[in-house]
Amino acid sequence: MSLEYLLKAKTGFSSFKSGQKEILEDVLARKDVIALLPTGGGKSLCYQLPGYVLEGAVLIVSPLLSLMEDQVQQLRASGEKSVIALNSFLSYSERERLLSLDLHSYKYIFISPEMLQVEKWVKKLQSLQIDLFVVDEAHCVSQWGHDFRTDYLKLGRVKESLGRPPSLALTATATRNVIHDIHAYLNMTSPALHINSVDRPNIALKVEHLHSNQEKKERLLELVQSLRTPGIVYFSSRAKTEEICDYLQENGITRVAYYHAGITQEQRILIQQQFLVDQLDIICCTSAFGMGINKSNVRFVIHYHQPTQLESYVQEIGRAGRGGNSSIAILLKSLEDTMLPEFIIENELPDPNWVSYIIHELVAVYGEVSDLSKVPLKDWMEKAPEQESHWRYLSYKVNQFIKEHGRLSTETTNDCIASIQTHMEERTTVKRRKLEEFNRWTNSPICRRKEILQYFDEELISSPLHCCDVCGLDLDDFSEKEKDLSEEMETSLSWQRLLKNIFWQEVEK
Ligand code: ADP
Ligand code: MG
Repeated sequence: MSLEYLLKAKTGFSSFKSGQKEILEDVLARKDVIALLPTGGGKSLCYQLPGYVLEGAVLIVSPLLSLMEDQVQQLRASGEKSVIALNSFLSYSERERLLSLDLHSYKYIFISPEMLQVEKWVKKLQSLQIDLFVVDEAHCVSQWGHDFRTDYLKLGRVKESLGRPPSLALTATATRNVIHDIHAYLNMTSPALHINSVDRPNIALKVEHLHSNQEKKERLLELVQSLRTPGIVYFSSRAKTEEICDYLQENGITRVAYYHAGITQEQRILIQQQFLVDQLDIICCTSAFGMGINKSNVRFVIHYHQPTQLESYVQEIGRAGRGGNSSIAILLKSLEDTMLPEFIIENELPDPNWVSYIIHELVAVYGEVSDLSKVPLKDWMEKAPEQESHWRYLSYKVNQFIKEHGRLSTETTNDCIASIQTHMEERTTVKRRKLEEFNRWTNSPICRRKEILQYFDEELISSPLHCCDVCGLDLDDFSEKEKDLSEEMETSLSWQRLLKNIFWQEVEK
């Protein structure tokens, strides 16, 4: 059966998007594959189609619940019923029910990296034939694995325990270092590399510098009043998503909602769903929203706060124009917010004093520790409250130290603390450097697209019509007025087409 035939039969699409076929060929040749396709480039298809050819199941490691839900829904909507998602948000009874299920009948199994650390799930998966181990949004291995989602760094080992199925890592944004991390941490053997351009020619790029936050707020209102919707506005603070959402509502923007990791699961699903079906025009959200979500008609992405690195920025703006429509990404920078990304970077890892305190305490209470999994960390978390991600980071690093040095004891306490603190400093330095590069980009007088591509070791071959504010951009091209005009034209054109068809049908009769 040819790949084209399979594509048509299973999806209805008549041709592959650029890069897909080559990736599929290598996946089906059972090679390890690292594939970069731009946002909206059709990465899901690269693991969906093999499912119909491979005998066993396809296991997809996915970073976010919302993303899993979206992928599962899409597969189900295409008629595929043998799909299941396993994540830590399942209720106890739901988990028990799934554990007792026979998973052999499932073709596509979505799972979070954290669930892959739970022994009973791994055991369950070991009883299956997994023929493809997929890591979607694989840049997370490098971007999150080193600090707040360390379970990403253990995926290689999990893969081994599942009989080392061929693996496929998919992402839209990976620099050379990120590709290196993916290769290493997923234990890949001479992976086939498919590097396609990160460029999204239909997204125009614009940076606006403002003096104060008040000015920024007013500018945002102007923009959302004039730009063609739907659109997404990104913030780095949960409170701000709510505040600005209220502000927009008070100013007559009604179909707007906020979304962040602090709202209930039900609310999150509801808002995502409403946005997907065009019942909402604008979402004010944190980075918790949007990863991998396939909404084709988003026309703008505005950043009210900048992320800490260009990779994240390119990922987030990539949610615009997935259906191919001309769209725009605007970054609003105000002098008053300069320190915010710095603060975020600092907060991603624990306070060095806290690290030192906890390790001293561990040794004081237990004398020596040779297996941290035997220590009731729950009690400790109550004793010295910290973010859960900081605890996860600490226990990952302490375990690593124990593995390398045999145990944690009075003699090795200081070495352990020093090694963790050094790692934290190194991570922070890397992140600060990335932030500096991002800041430089926002102030650069060079074409923004050219510089983004350079960051990913690419060259800009040709500039699109609407490139960036440095090359010259007219915001009116992205405004509602334009929409009315072009829609009117579309309507009259379709009437013309309809009339012509009727006419010709009549004539042919
Ligand atoms: P991403 O690369 O961002 O993960 P998706 O896999 O979500 O992108 O795909 C984006 C959109 O492209 C989806 O609507 C998908 O159905 C569509 N798509 C994927 N492959 C093809 C194809 N060969 N022809 C037409 N549309 C495709
Ligand atoms: Mg995707």
